[in-house]
This record gives sequence, structure tokens and C-alpha cells, in this order.
Amino acid sequence: MSQWDAVIVGAGPAGLSAALNLARARRRVLVLDSNRPRNSATFHAHGFLSRDGISPLELRRLGREELEAYPEASYERSVVSSIEPGFTVAHTGGVASARAVIIATGLRELPPALPSLRQFYGTSAHSCMECDGYEYADRPIALVGESDDLAERALLLSQWSRDLVVFTNGADVVDAASEARLAERGARVERRPVRDVAGDRSGITGVVLADGEVVPRAGVFIRPDYEAVLDFADPLGLARDAHGLIVTDPDGRASASGVYAMGDVTPPGPQQLIVAAGMGARVAAALNRDLLG
Ligand SMILES: Cc1cc2nc3c(=O)[nH]c(=O)nc-3n(C[C@H](O)[C@H](O)[C@H](O)COP(=O)(O)OP(=O)(O)OC[C@H]3O[C@@H](n4cnc5c(N)ncnc54)[C@H](O)[C@@H]3O)c2cc1C
Repeated sequence: MSQWDAVIVGAGPAGLSAALNLARARRRVLVLDSNRPRNSATFHAHGFLSRDGISPLELRRLGREELEAYPEASYERSVVSSIEPGFTVAHTGGVASARAVIIATGLRELPPALPSLRQFYGTSAHSCMECDGYEYADRPIALVGESDDLAERALLLSQWSRDLVVFTNGADVVDAASEARLAERGARVERRPVRDVAGDRSGITGVVLADGEVVPRAGVFIRPDYEAVLDFADPLGLARDAHGLIVTDPDGRASASGVYAMGDVTPPGPQQLIVAAGMGARVAAALNRDLLG
């Protein structure tokens, strides 16, 4: 069993950034990653300073390449199955022992049940407006969702295009005042149930209603649900919030001593690549100090 200063679970921007900063603090760090990033559906990631438009897989590859130049760091493609207090980390490549662990495993998305959505997700169907809204400036777009924050999200989306139809899929989630406010911004609320999205090789062409009518649209934004898959961390008994996210202090310290968490797996949940990377650097600095006692 190998002994590390820190084992990091997850090599997205959060995990890689923490690893880089820990290696540069001369900490021995092992990064274990199952290589299943949530954003692999998309070809272009936006908003990361100096890397706007890069493929998310290329961003990760560059991060790994930088990390592996440090002899203090090691990366393994491996799935972590359990972390016992102390810490003993069991993974598909073996067992590792560490003074501290960092959990940066991101989230799993649960998209709405539209049969054809998956084939367009990441190219003309999106969940993050800040990431992909710009590409739809002034174009006909849709927001599909049933959550209580749908009107608020629609208002935000109207910043990118006022040619916006908000599909509630039959749910009573947009009140009259919100509908009036959206109308002032040019957005229309469609309350009939949605059956699917329509499209061709160029991408999404419309939203299909249950009655067969197709509302032409060039892109669709959805409001997926999310879940944090953290069975492997159960032995640590970490405090989680109402959404199952790991509760931490501002420097990423979780409720058990020596355990840290950051990125999308911590409140408020899904954010952006550069936010996750920034948090990784912050957690690395805190962990480095904590290891000195
Ligand atoms: C379709 C899509 C497009 C997006 N576009 C953008 C964009 O343009 N710009 C932007 O800033 N943000 C974008 N985002 C958001 C961005 O991808 C996330 O905010 C960011 O990746 C979160 O980083 P993270 O390090 O917390 O988690 P992730 O990047 O999700 O990385 C988590 C890693 O942990 C690994 N893992 C999970 N469980 C285990 C386990 N048990 N053992 C080992 N490894 C494990 C996973 O395989 C994964 O590699 C997009 C998201 C999606 C879904």
C-alpha cells in the first residue's frame, strides 16, 4: 500500500487544480479518476480565461500533462469504491493510504424525459446559460423545465435572446406576474405538455408538443436535476445538504477532519470550470497549511 499526503478523487478542473498546487507545495499527491466528466457531451467549453472555446477533454488533458511533470504527483485512471477513516482508499487499481483526502467527483445529471434530447445534448441542447448562451444571441431558443425557478431562469436567458419560448411541460410553475414580466422581455410561456425535441444533422429544429405541433427553435436550454454519487464516501459519515452535496467551510474542509471537498459536488452545485479550478487552488492551500498542524 502506497502512502500519500493526499489522495484526490476526481480529475476535473477542481481535482487537477488542487493536485497541481499541492505538488508545487511539495506534497505527495495521488489523483484517481474514472474519466466520466459530465461535460464530455460538449465539444466547446466557454468562459475559462485563456481557454475560451477549448474542448473540455483537451482542457483536462492539458491539466494532466502539467501535473505529471511534477515527480510529487501521480494520476491513475481508476474508480474509487471506498474511503475508510484514517485514510484507506480502495480503488480499481489497488489500495492507497493518505493523510488527507479530497473529494472532487462532480455530479451526475438527470435530464428531462425527452426521448431525442440526448443526441443533441452539448451541441444544440444545453443546461448552462453562462457557458453556451452567447452562441444563441438573438436566435429563437427554448427553455424547458418544471422547476420552481423556471421563470427566474427564463428571465436570465432573455439576456441572450428575447426570441424565447418557455415550456412548462404542463407544470404550474410560472405565475401571472412572472409571465407578464417575461412578456415585457419578449418571452412567451407555453403551458402545453412537451413530447420531444425535433432535429436533423444541423441540430435541434424545434420543440414537439404532445398534440403534435412543432414550435421551431434553434436551440434548447433544459433544467436537469442532479445527484451527487458518493456511496464510496459513506464510511466517512460526511455532513450533506438537502440536495446531497458535501457541506464544507469556505476553504473546502468537510465535516470529518482531514476530508476536503470542492467543485460541483459542494453547494451550490453545478457552476463553471474556472470556479471549480479556483476552488481547487484554495483547498490545496488550506490542506497544505492543515498538514503542518
Ligand atoms: C454539457 C455541459 C457543458 C458545460 N459547458 C461548460 C462551459 O462551456 N464552461 C464552463 O465553465 N463550464 C461548463 N460546464 C460545467 C463544468 O463542466 C463543471 O462545472 C465542471 O466540470 C465541474 O468540475 P469538477 O471538477 O467539480 O467536476 P467534473 O469536471 O465533473 O469532474 C469530476 C470527475 O470525477 C470523476 N469521478 C466521479 N466519481 C468517481 C469515483 N468514484 N472514482 C474516481 N473518479 C470519479 C469523474 O469521472 C470526473 O472525471 C458544462 C457542463 C455540462 C454538463
